[in-house]
Amino acid sequence: MTTFLGMPTPAPRGVGNLRGDEPFPAAARKALGNAQLRRNLGHATTTIRAKSGSVIGELPDWQELRTAGSALKADTMARLPELLLQLEEKVTAAGGVVHWAADANEANRIVTELVRATGQDRVIKVKSMATQEIGLNEALEAAGIEPVETDLAELIVQLGHDRPSHILVPAIHRNRAEIREIFLREMPGVDPALTDEPVILAGAARRYLRETFLRTKVAVSGANFAVAETGTLAVLESEGNGRMCLTLPETLITVMGIEKLVPTWQDLEVFLQLLPRASTGERMNPYTSMWTGVTPGDGPQNFHLVLLDNGRTAVLADEVGRQALHCIRCSACLNVCPVYERTGGHAYGSVYPGPIGAVLSPQLTGVEDNASLPYASSLCGACFDACPVKIDIPSILVHLRNEVPHPRTERAVMASAAYTMDHPKLYAAAQHAAKLSKLAGRRLPPPLNGWTAGRDLPEPPPETFRDWWAKR
Ligand code: SF4
Repeated sequence: MTTFLGMPTPAPRGVGNLRGDEPFPAAARKALGNAQLRRNLGHATTTIRAKSGSVIGELPDWQELRTAGSALKADTMARLPELLLQLEEKVTAAGGVVHWAADANEANRIVTELVRATGQDRVIKVKSMATQEIGLNEALEAAGIEPVETDLAELIVQLGHDRPSHILVPAIHRNRAEIREIFLREMPGVDPALTDEPVILAGAARRYLRETFLRTKVAVSGANFAVAETGTLAVLESEGNGRMCLTLPETLITVMGIEKLVPTWQDLEVFLQLLPRASTGERMNPYTSMWTGVTPGDGPQNFHLVLLDNGRTAVLADEVGRQALHCIRCSACLNVCPVYERTGGHAYGSVYPGPIGAVLSPQLTGVEDNASLPYASSLCGACFDACPVKIDIPSILVHLRNEVPHPRTERAVMASAAYTMDHPKLYAAAQHAAKLSKLAGRRLPPPLNGWTAGRDLPEPPPETFRDWWAKR
């Protein structure tokens, strides 16, 4: 039997969380007006950066590990069809069932039907970007099934009827007073005398979640990695909630993007060193759960793996942009990005924020649906330096900027600049005019004033190279 995933198509509209309601500049302007958000973000990203930098500095072979991670991902993408078939064969042989989902609608339908077949009306969830991407919670709720997030930050986001704003710390935009308010308002059975001490808040969440773990028979997870040669799935988390979800229920349904593969068990060695140091700044991940199909009498007795495309084969078809599929969702690029640090994640409109979101979301949806995101960057290159699998995000940003027509004014300015530079006399006259423009101030007149709305016009040098050369 052969598997045909279909022609590469973008993620469908009207479902999931890959498209925002407004372009990035408009959303960013609103976010910049929120001083509390900027304080929370500044504090959190500075702390994570320092922690991560210190443990990365302990490894003399960090650069070699990054190179190995990059090479392994490039190899995986080059052999993706055969590796996916190998994974399907191994998972099936170990007692699991593999489902292929071309897009978000299909994945939501598959998971909803699987939960319905169990007769249950509630699922517990391990934090999963893929299920957020496809809007699974909304689809389950529409079918009368209650999804309960069990990662503390995801729980805060869910109870607050909010959206995640960071890959790793989804409630990074909330402070503890706000979290206390949310718990008091939304958490069943919470102590009315709850304070905003972190340990008290964590205790309240623990009590609520333990009770939910013990009375729920179906779990939905994502996966950080899948090993093609053995059919093993891996989830990395740091609270132990994932371990409970992956072991206690009778049925486990895992939704995984098709790019999460690694060819061999040994390849995990590289990524299990890269991911915790780059993401949470830990030497080793606190809870790494791995499972292969079904083990009789131990853990979930029904295991389903939903392999999700939702635009990924379209990304793979782009020779420059396909690097974005190497991402291991560590969030290091977010924590070093000067744009993300000021706007936060909501401004990106997609479940994938920050530099990786600026290149992944437009590719998954088709660039025209997220045309402003490739411009949500200063192209400073900090994301490239921080990325543990060496994704050249700045190059992809520039590549994507050229995928849709530039604004008419910009095209006209560039065409006249090219013509001027091609004609020496005209160019000398333009330089002379630039000197005179000093008198006009640091802003451009309409219709070019958009360029200087958020930056000053560079001051022309007192002497041009031509003047200097002519004197000699
Ligand atoms: S692009 Fe690189 S740095 Fe950013 S989340 Fe992905 S792996 Fe981490």
